[in-house]
Amino acid sequence: NNTLHIVGGGMAGSEAAWQAARLGVNVVIHEMRPKVETFAHKTGHLAEMVCSNSFRSDDDEQNAVGLLHWEMRQAGGLIMACADAHRLPAGGALAVDRDPFAEAVTRQLLDHPRISVSHEEITALPEDGHWIIATGPLTSSALGQAIAAETGAEALAFFDAIAPIVYFDSVDMDIAWMQSRYDKGDTEAERTAYLNCPMDKAQYEAFIDALLAADKTEFHEGETAGYFDGCLPIEVMAERGRETLRHGPMKPVGLTNAHAPESKAHAVVQLRRDNALGTLYNIVGFQTKMKYGAQTEVFRMIPGLQNARFARLGGIHRNTFLNSPTLLDAGMRLKSRPHIRFAGQITGVEGYVESAAMGLLAGRLAAAEMRGTPLSTPPETTATGALITHISGGAEAKSFQPMNVNFGLFPPVEGLRGGRRGRKDRYKAYTDRAKADWTGWLGQTALDAA
Ligand code: FAD
Repeated sequence: NNTLHIVGGGMAGSEAAWQAARLGVNVVIHEMRPKVETFAHKTGHLAEMVCSNSFRSDDDEQNAVGLLHWEMRQAGGLIMACADAHRLPAGGALAVDRDPFAEAVTRQLLDHPRISVSHEEITALPEDGHWIIATGPLTSSALGQAIAAETGAEALAFFDAIAPIVYFDSVDMDIAWMQSRYDKGDTEAERTAYLNCPMDKAQYEAFIDALLAADKTEFHEGETAGYFDGCLPIEVMAERGRETLRHGPMKPVGLTNAHAPESKAHAVVQLRRDNALGTLYNIVGFQTKMKYGAQTEVFRMIPGLQNARFARLGGIHRNTFLNSPTLLDAGMRLKSRPHIRFAGQITGVEGYVESAAMGLLAGRLAAAEMRGTPLSTPPETTATGALITHISGGAEAKSFQPMNVNFGLFPPVEGLRGGRRGRKDRYKAYTDRAKADWTGWLGQTALDAA
């Protein structure tokens, strides 16, 4: 019972194993490749990068993902050490030479005296012991079914149908207004749950034309096999008829334009608050396969969003992920089976870096617990803490969709200028505060010496 079992040797599982082993715990990684393949992985290496070779921005003063790099480096992270060792020139981004990178991660894990790797598919939820499940966006179908049987089918998604998310402070509130349809809700939280952007007929027609003309991406071969449950992209709805959206997600009923109560909108785009802080709003029903460049262009045609900045753009991908806000506690444990933690993209974060960070955290939390010195989660002022706080409770459970790290997840720093001009100072203040708090959290654990 002194062994930590990790299912999945991807970005998260590899980092979790490394952290736990460094803290003195024995680890077995159960990885199904190369015996069982996924449609995206090409090798039998651990920590394979399945698509782009970028860890995104390495700027730890002005960028939230760069800050996550910094935090992982401070914690002695394996994924960052191997990425740094196999860095390719790419300006301010951290691009990685993917095969040598994955080979280095694999070798370091295999060489570690406390880590072993067992190549097998895990198909059921373990009854006892210490476990971390980090099987990622392409969790095998048998294990996916076992998880769904435990959590309820509605709490496990097999696709993400991501609507774009905008920063509230970039919405033009001289055009948009806050109101729930039919004025439902009495509390402040309910009254601020929706933003509305009105369109007249000409604006609506131009918007439909742009949707139809925009560049789209295709599904990967094998991606939809046996899974796709019909969460339709917005442009597909538009293809079915020019009026379809006006009767669907853009219906103008039950709403009164606060800036022009007499006027009747032809269509209304609704945005729903995406986090408790109220800094992020998602565009309801606007999941899309449009390319990123096309999305910013088309969505900025929406009145009120002409200067919108996007915390993330929309997409539809094969992606297995939990409704973490309802299922996981702040220690990443499955509430109904606390001997099982989840880590990586299956928890509802998105991207190599975020997944590795959630592996780092799960590995440390599990090892600390096994050593009898339980650890608190890091403060939400850190990038790692902001992510775990978001997925384990800060996000709205009903509309929960996978999240990249971004400054919208951080509690505001008081007393700084708002708006575009204050942004640089604000981000520097966020990252300064995060670094101090992360150092404090790492120091508190006093586990690195083990
Ligand atoms: P993974 O890295 O996928 O690791 C999970 C591991 O678990 C895999 O090795 C898998 O073989 C194994 N496994 C699954 N089921 C079982 C089982 N039952 N038993 C044992 N082992 C199992 N992110 C980016 O940052 N940039 C991109 O460009 C990008 N492109 C992507 C393209 C595609 C097609 C997909 C599917 C994902 C993409 N992602 C991208 C997301 C990226 O893959 C993840 O963010 C990251 O790899 C997740 O790390 P993870 O450890 O959670 O999962």
